[in-house]
Formats: sequence, C-alpha cells, structure tokens
Amino acid sequence: MLRVENLVKSFDGFLAVNGANLTVHEKQIVAVIGPNGAGKTTLFNLITGHLVPTGGKVIFKDREITGMAPHRICHLGISRSFQLINVFPQLSVFENVQVSVLSHQKKVLNMFAPAQKLVVEETYNILEKVRLADKAREKTASLSYGDQKILEMAIALGNYPELLMLDEPTAGMSPEETKATIALVQELAKKEGLTVLFTEHNMNVVFEISEKIMVMQQGRTIAQDLPDMVRANKQVQAAYLGEES
Ligand code: ADP
Ligand code: MG
Repeated sequence: MLRVENLVKSFDGFLAVNGANLTVHEKQIVAVIGPNGAGKTTLFNLITGHLVPTGGKVIFKDREITGMAPHRICHLGISRSFQLINVFPQLSVFENVQVSVLSHQKKVLNMFAPAQKLVVEETYNILEKVRLADKAREKTASLSYGDQKILEMAIALGNYPELLMLDEPTAGMSPEETKATIALVQELAKKEGLTVLFTEHNMNVVFEISEKIMVMQQGRTIAQDLPDMVRANKQVQAAYLGEES
C-alpha cells in the first residue's frame, strides 16, 4: 500500500531524514520507532505532503505522491493525526468531525447549504466508532486530554482513509487512556479494514499491537522487521541505550 524509498529531508543542510525506507502492506499495523529526534515526525510530514522531500520517493497504491499537496494526498486516502493536538477547540465534538466529513464529500464549498443538517448520520457513525457519540454536543475544549486525542482520530476517520497515520497517539495519556486507545486502534484496523502506521514512545504499546516495526536512528532506517526480530536486533538495542522508553 505504501512504499517509502530512500527519503531525505534537509533543513538548511541538517538532514532530519537521511535515507528512510518503509513498506506497509494493506491492513497491516506498522510502528515507526526511534529515539527522540530520529526523524519520525518529519517522515510522517513527508509522507502526507506537509513537507516536501529533498530526495527519495513516496509511493501510495502504485502511484507516486512525492511532494504532492497535503489535501490531494488526503483525498487519495491517507489521513493522519498530529503529535500535538490539532482540533477546533471552540467547536463541538460533533462539529469537529462534521467538518472533516464535509470536506471529504467536498460539500464544504456549498456555502448556502444548512451545514448542520448535512452528514449528520455519517458524523454520528464515526463518533460511535470511537465511543464519543455521548459527548457529541460538548465543546471540544472541555474534553479530557485523552478524549481530544481520540477526537483527532475521529477527524481523521472523517476522510474515510485507507491508511491512517497516528503520530504518538498515546503521548501524555494516563495508563487507562493508553489502554483504551490501543484497543480502539486495533478494533478500527480490524472492523474498518484500515491500514495503520503509527509512531510511539511506549514500547509496551509498540510490541502489543505492531505486526511490523521500522526503526529510525538519526534520520535513517536501521531496521524493518517483525517485532521479535527487532527486539533481538543489536543495532536497535544500541540505538536505545541511554534513552528511556
Ligand atoms: P522525532 O519525531 O523522531 O522525535 P523529528 O522528526 O521531530 O523527530 O525531528 C528530527 C530532527 O529534525 C530533530 O533534530 C529536529 O530538531 C529537526 N527538525 C524537525 N523539524 C525541523 C524544522 N522545521 N527545521 C529544522 N529542524 C527540524
Ligand atoms: Mg515526533
């Protein structure tokens, strides 16, 4: 489904990504791990078009998407959530997801349609999938941190993606919130047939749900393998020395 070949990103000569390689197959759950600053978020931004690579290729479903605009990549079927929360705090939970569904259906340009009536069912469907339907009318700013992260996932689902990319989905969550989030990601992958690519600091989470793990160090892919193989990899162990995780 997704292939990243020798991707490079230079920020004024500093190589934040310097030879990233990744293959993700349909319906897989794949983790990208690596010490802080390894280039994981930058890699995500390169895949989703939020940054333009200095070199290399991104191929999604046999189509090269390298350097395409984010909205085009999004319409092709890749959705993402961000490491830092990215929701409209003044809107209700419902409205946040509705905006996303409207944008997917390109109805957003019809300024005279009564937006509240549009896509109500679709929006509730998504909120039910992530178990936020009972909070639909709450103001987003009043949600707990964990629920705001889940809402971000719901917004991503409003695009009806084939590939869902989550940048540190459990960052800052309590152990209970983390557990619920992992269960949700697994459930979405299974029930919706989604392919999931995520970055994560918590190694318990990584090893619990990943079918494959790609390891980055200083911008480079140093391993890409089954979880047990990655765990046993000496170069990976060395990359994590001195790093709490
Ligand atoms: P990770 O997500 O693995 O922690 P990042 O992709 O956020 O790592 O960052 C990789 C490296 O690139 C870091 O050293 C970071 O400081 C640097 N970096 C990220 N974005 C920029 C930018 N816009 N300009 C300059 N350096 C950046
Ligand atoms: Mg990051």
